[in-house]
Amino acid sequence: KMAGRACYRVYSAEESEHGQHKRRISESLVASLKVSPEEFSVVYQPQYDLDSGRLVGLEALLRWQHPEFGAVSPAEFVPLAEQRGVIHELTEQLVRCIRRDLDSDTFIGKGDQRLAINISARQIADSRLEHLLDPFFEATRQAGWLPELEITETHLMNLSRRSLEQLRAFGDKGVTVAVDDFGTGYSSLAYLQTLPVHVLKIDRQFVSRLGPDRRDSRIVAAILAIADALDLEVIAEGIETELQKSRLQELNCHRGQGYLMARPSPLAGLSLADAEPSSNRTPA
Ligand code: C2E
Ligand code: MG
Ligand code: MG
Ligand code: MG
Repeated sequence: KMAGRACYRVYSAEESEHGQHKRRISESLVASLKVSPEEFSVVYQPQYDLDSGRLVGLEALLRWQHPEFGAVSPAEFVPLAEQRGVIHELTEQLVRCIRRDLDSDTFIGKGDQRLAINISARQIADSRLEHLLDPFFEATRQAGWLPELEITETHLMNLSRRSLEQLRAFGDKGVTVAVDDFGTGYSSLAYLQTLPVHVLKIDRQFVSRLGPDRRDSRIVAAILAIADALDLEVIAEGIETELQKSRLQELNCHRGQGYLMARPSPLAGLSLADAEPSSNRTPA
């Protein structure tokens, strides 16, 4: 019993230390968004046609480098921004960084390639979003890219009527909408069919399971069947091995992104060149 209690104390001390650290990070985030824009930057991950190697798009991902905490992952700071009510300010920062990059002569698209940003479903109802994104859409198009919005599946399923209208309005302007992390949420297919979305992004966890045993391909095959039935495009994320890539091709998934082809990179190190076309589509 004594030991049990001691263990409990240690555990709770760690817990509160962890909570304290989180709170400090979240307070810094609020402050940095307000006064330290230089701590934020954007990296871009190329998306390819898996067969031809053609560059079909880029996904913009926000980075935060804090002087004390170092690089904080967006997986950590995006939820904190949502909690603290500064997700709009975060997207503002993202757009500011991208627009600065778009001004560079080296960042010119061919007109039919996409430039995607991630937005939180919770901010779609925010009336400020349209004013923030319209200049982004315009700057993106002017630089030769097609704007795309990524929204995670988990949050897409309980959008308010107002959010739906907003999303539809973006669609009417020719902005494509991708359902991020597809397969991890709880989409009602009937509802999905009514949503103004164009692309399903197969979540990394399903791609990572693709391997020698073809039975591990079943979920990806099911997602592709859903996309086909609903007339949606598909792209796979998190492709790390040649085998995963060729399995996807066998299954008729022809677009993807992942460390195998390219890691997210700052504009300075970004290659807008096409990748090598696939030679061996079915390795042993
Ligand atoms: P996501 O949109 O699903 O982005 C994909 C994440 O997987 C990125 O992590 C990317 O760096 C990583 N990734 C790409 N290829 C591979 C791979 O082959 N293997 C592995 N293991 N990982 C890969 P990141 O940049 O840390 O972003 C994490 C999440 O944070 C994103 O998931 C997105 O939901 C969110 N996020 C990132 N930037 C923003 C932003 O500007 N705004 C919002 N609202 N959310 C963002
Ligand atoms: Mg994404
Ligand atoms: Mg994703
Ligand atoms: Mg993800």
